[in-house]
Amino acid sequence: MIPIDLLEVSTYEIPTQEPYEADGTLEWSSTTVVVVTLGAGGKKGLGFSYATTACETLIKDVLAKAILGCDVLDTGAIWAKMVKSIRNLGRPGISSMSISAVDIAAWDLKAHLVGLPLADLIGKCRNKVEIYGSGGFTSLSDDQLTKQLDGWVYKQKIPRVKIKVGSNWGKLWQRDIQRVELAREYIGNDTELFVDANGAYSRKQALRMAQEFERYGVSWFEEPVSSDDLSGLRQIKESTTADVTAGEYGYSLVYFSNMANSGAVDCLQIDISRCGGITEWMRISAVAAAIGLEVSAHCAPSLHLHPACATQNIRHIEYFADHVRIENMLFDGVAQPKPGGVLSPFFESIGMGLELKAEAEKFRKDFHG
Ligand SMILES: [Mg+2]
Repeated sequence: MIPIDLLEVSTYEIPTQEPYEADGTLEWSSTTVVVVTLGAGGKKGLGFSYATTACETLIKDVLAKAILGCDVLDTGAIWAKMVKSIRNLGRPGISSMSISAVDIAAWDLKAHLVGLPLADLIGKCRNKVEIYGSGGFTSLSDDQLTKQLDGWVYKQKIPRVKIKVGSNWGKLWQRDIQRVELAREYIGNDTELFVDANGAYSRKQALRMAQEFERYGVSWFEEPVSSDDLSGLRQIKESTTADVTAGEYGYSLVYFSNMANSGAVDCLQIDISRCGGITEWMRISAVAAAIGLEVSAHCAPSLHLHPACATQNIRHIEYFADHVRIENMLFDGVAQPKPGGVLSPFFESIGMGLELKAEAEKFRKDFHG
């Protein structure tokens, strides 16, 4: 029995590199990171989520009461207590993002207590995971887009890239085609090209766009329609050669089970900072494996790297430009891509191997402000 005797939460807000960024259905000018530190037996563990300041309140007011004093070795029981504690608040959204950050911190703490890299603690089945360069915001100029593609394909040697389409809720569809054409010309035919519409298109529009994108060898069409429209996703999946994918707004096992079993996707995307942390990630991956689906990690590459190394049916990790920049700004110990487009953990490090930098303080939000 090693009781959890410390729980700290801090929130950081990092402005975007450009004045704003956009995909097909959202614009943003900053990203918020909620960082949790748990302590037990003289060791500390770290977890975080890309979320909102409200998570800090929920973690302090609700989750802390549920888990302080619990045996940190019992990560399953800790997770179950958190889920039970938010019954009346609702599982999706803020609750699940909060649970995710704490669950990851609990696993990281447990790894520190036993002195193992996190992947080894969970049950490693690989030493490295493929990544794909991701960004290509609809707010980028053509020059900015090709500069980003240049970084991934020709400097970092990542053979898979993803750009956003669905500009302005699909109203600027001609521009989407022009950008896909530009991307394909720039990266050549040896690099895989993925697109993500973030649910911007209607069903029929998505079917037409899928045909257009096929001409440029697009092999991954993410959220062609809303991820809530499972029959629409399935319709598009059955009519195009590209893999149709979704899952980034999934907050629980049941959501992913419904999506996978409805035949809506060719690859299930899971976000460990939203779905309920490492504990839920492993269960969702198993549900996908049972019907022959691979899973792909959505964003937050540093959080996914160790669990992905312990996931039999992982396809790749999204090496998302925003989060890559933020994780390198906030944390020491962030793994860097290797030629061929893979990430590999520092196996000499304990836990996830991440430490919050002192410089992160300048992005910290005043909780009461
Ligand atoms: Mg997406």
